[in-house]
Amino acid sequence: MEKNIETLCVHGGDHRFPDGRDSISMPIYQTATFAHPDLGHSPDRFYYTRLTNPTRNILEETVSALEGAADTVAFASGMAAISAVFELFSPGDRILCSADLYGGTVLLFDLVCKKNGLIFEAVDTADEAALRAAMDESVRAIYIETPSNPMMNVTDIALCATLAKKYGALLIVDNTFLSPYFQNPIALGADLVVHSGTKYLGGHNDTISGFVCAADAALAERIRKIAVTMGSVLAPFDSWLMIRGIKTLAVRMERAQENAMTIAQWLKNHPKVTRVHYVGLPEHPGYAVNAKQSRGSGAMLSFAVDSHETALQVLAKTKIITFAESLGGPESLITLPVTQTHADVPEEERLKLGITDSLLRLSVGLENAQDLIEDLRQAME
Ligand code: PLP
Repeated sequence: MEKNIETLCVHGGDHRFPDGRDSISMPIYQTATFAHPDLGHSPDRFYYTRLTNPTRNILEETVSALEGAADTVAFASGMAAISAVFELFSPGDRILCSADLYGGTVLLFDLVCKKNGLIFEAVDTADEAALRAAMDESVRAIYIETPSNPMMNVTDIALCATLAKKYGALLIVDNTFLSPYFQNPIALGADLVVHSGTKYLGGHNDTISGFVCAADAALAERIRKIAVTMGSVLAPFDSWLMIRGIKTLAVRMERAQENAMTIAQWLKNHPKVTRVHYVGLPEHPGYAVNAKQSRGSGAMLSFAVDSHETALQVLAKTKIITFAESLGGPESLITLPVTQTHADVPEEERLKLGITDSLLRLSVGLENAQDLIEDLRQAME
C-alpha cells in the first residue's frame, strides 16, 4: 500500500524486530557487538555496531522512505555526512557549489577537501546563466543548498540534475532547511541528499546527527563503506532519539511554517526592518522555483535591520527567542550569521552574498506566533 508522508513519518521503519517482540517503540540496541552462533554461521545481518545496528537500521529505512531513496546512511552529525560524501572524489576533481552555503561546509572544503586535491568553484546556482556557464566535462559534482543558509536563495534542482547528467556529474543537495516533509530532491533527479538530522528531522534541539540518502543502491553502498571505515556512524541511543523525533516531523513542520509566514508578514511592515528573506513571500526572487519543486516554504527566514546596533539589541533583548546557533527545534532561535554560522567565510565573499552585520537569521519554532511577534516587537523598541 502506498503511504503518504505523514504516515511514513510515523511508520516509515515498520518492521519485525530481530528479537521477535513487537514493541511499538523501536528498542535501543545499546550494544557494541553481537554473538556469533558458531564458526561460519554469523548472526543474521548484525556483527558489530560500527557496521550495523538494528536501531540505526530502522532509522535509515525510515529516512529512505521519507526521501524516496534507495538507501540511507545515518551519521554522527551533518558534517560527518557531508565529509563522507566528499570522500567519493579524487584529487583534481572539480566541484561546482552554491556560493551561499552553511559556513561549516565551506570550512570543510577549505580545511579538508582542498588538502585532498579537490577543486571548488562557487557560483550563484540560483542564476541559470551563471550555472550553465560554469558547467563542463571537468565538473564531477554540483553541490547545492536550497533554500540556502542564510540568504534563502532558491536553486532549481531539476535544472541542476539535467546539467549534472549531461556532463556526467553527481548532483548533491543539502535538504536540511525544508526537510523531506516539504522537499524530495531525489524525485527531481538528485543523486545524493544530505541532512543535518540535528535540525528538523530530530526536531528537539537535543541530538546531533546527519544523513546521506542515495538515489541508487550502488552509490549508497560506496557511502556506507566510507562511513563504517571512517567510523562516523550514528550511535544506537541517538538513532532512537531520531526515530522518535521523526514521528512528529509532519505536524512540527506545518506548525513552524504557519508561524514563519505570520512573522515574515509582520517583519515586512516593521520600520526598522529593511529586508525580509522568506521563500514563502511571493516577492521573494525564488518563490516560483521553490513553489514548483517543494510542498512548502519551511520555517527559516533571515531579515536585515537598519543597523548593526539594532541587530545586537535584538539579540540582547529577546526573551522567548533564544540567541543560539542551530535551527529546526521547537524553540525559536536567532543568530547573527556574520559572527556565528558564517564567521569563517571571508568578508569580501560574505558581503557579496548580502551577509552583513545587520542580518539576523531566525529559526521559527513551535511557540505561539503572537508571543514571538510580541517578543520581537519589544526587542526592536
Ligand atoms: N547543513 C546545514 C544547512 C546546516 O545548517 C548545518 C548546521 O547548522 C549542517 C549542514 C551541519 O550539521 P551538523 O551541525 O549536524 O553537523
